[in-house]
Amino acid sequence: MQRVASTSRRTGWAEEAALALTSAGYRRGGARRAILELLDEQSCALSAVEIQQALTSRNREVSRASIYRVMEELEEIGLLARVEVGRGVVRYEPSRHGPGHHHHLVCDHCGRISPFTDEGLERAIRRVSDALPLQVSEHEVVIHGSCETCAAS
Ligand SMILES: [Zn+2]
Ligand SMILES: [Zn+2]
Repeated sequence: MQRVASTSRRTGWAEEAALALTSAGYRRGGARRAILELLDEQSCALSAVEIQQALTSRNREVSRASIYRVMEELEEIGLLARVEVGRGVVRYEPSRHGPGHHHHLVCDHCGRISPFTDEGLERAIRRVSDALPLQVSEHEVVIHGSCETCAAS
């Protein structure tokens, strides 16, 4: 198991998503573009509140309703992954199949989320997927528990 470093990087997902939204008939907009770029820079998922706060700190005022609308559009075209972290909180991140693809550890006490990758896990999922009566398009793994901080207190 490997922790994913929280370095900021752009992967071209924002451009891909912008094109896909346009060809799906959604109109362009500055707010949408700002949201796409923000998500593309993250190493893991953000909640709608965090997206709004991050945009505000960049002098971009975007309403919560607009954020949820863009999240819906992106889910509709299959470019967004939602991570349910409990207590009704949902986090969003680009759906990645190649580089950047990862899974999540969720602390049920403080809601902290940490990304991780594991080659053995991916191999096992591929092996299982090949045998399933399902054309597998994606998979997600969320492991729940207590984070180091919460377990120590
Ligand atoms: Zn993530
Ligand atoms: Zn915790």
